[in-house]
Amino acid sequence: MATIKLEIVSPDKVVYTADINMLIVRSTAGELGILPKHAPMVTGLIPHAMRVKIDGTESLIAVAGGFMEVQPEKITVLASAAELPVEIDVLRAQKAYDRARERLEAFKSGRQTDPPIDNKRAEIALQRAMARLRACGKSIE
Ligand code: ATP
Repeated sequence: MATIKLEIVSPDKVVYTADINMLIVRSTAGELGILPKHAPMVTGLIPHAMRVKIDGTESLIAVAGGFMEVQPEKITVLASAAELPVEIDVLRAQKAYDRARERLEAFKSGRQTDPPIDNKRAEIALQRAMARLRACGKSIE
């Protein structure tokens, strides 16, 4: 089966590198499936659990956002943060999720808070927490 090299880099380390058969990501332009020999492209990534396929097995890797560069032989993900499931502190992700949900609820209800709620920031924090929980196989609505 044809392979393409995948390298996922965060600001402090190389998170993951392997020869893979397919990568499925959520880009700013929608879901993309990258196969070997893909045409060159660059796109932004939104927070989600990336799907890596190797020999019929699928693994998940949480990405908090960043960019993906595709070349026919290599995919490079420059992530603001990325974690393998074993690296994820599930309790921390659950707390981040709950915090973001509370902020979004407070914003929606019009409740005054000090400091005021940044709704967009809370939405993105929620997406990051959901990406981590999903990568660990936790079901969330
Ligand atoms: P929190 O509010 O819990 O800090 P966050 O979404 O604001 O979460 P980020 O800014 O995306 O966190 O990441 C900051 C650093 O913390 C990164 O190095 C990231 O890999 C790490 N990190 C964040 N959440 C977790 C987690 N649940 N488990 C392991 N590492 C995490």
